[in-house]
Amino acid sequence: MSADGTGKFGGCCEVLKDVLESEEFEPLIAEDDDGILYMSIGMVDPEKEEDPNMVDHPVFFCPFCGTKVQTPEEVDAKAKA
Ligand SMILES: [Zn+2]
Repeated sequence: MSADGTGKFGGCCEVLKDVLESEEFEPLIAEDDDGILYMSIGMVDPEKEEDPNMVDHPVFFCPFCGTKVQTPEEVDAKAKA
């Protein structure tokens, strides 16, 4: 499998693994370039924005099995790195 970085998340359960590895759809949960797992929680108001963007929020617990996947401290450290 891949080296450091990718593949860090998804080790807790098959569902999250499938979501992150799926090529059949664009998942709303994804690992960004900094290695932080994000979940899309909604869209910027399309009536106010010409080019609406998804709003992301870091995921601290797997939404499928409840396993802790990262801590706020880890996210902070990676975001600043
Ligand atoms: Zn899980």
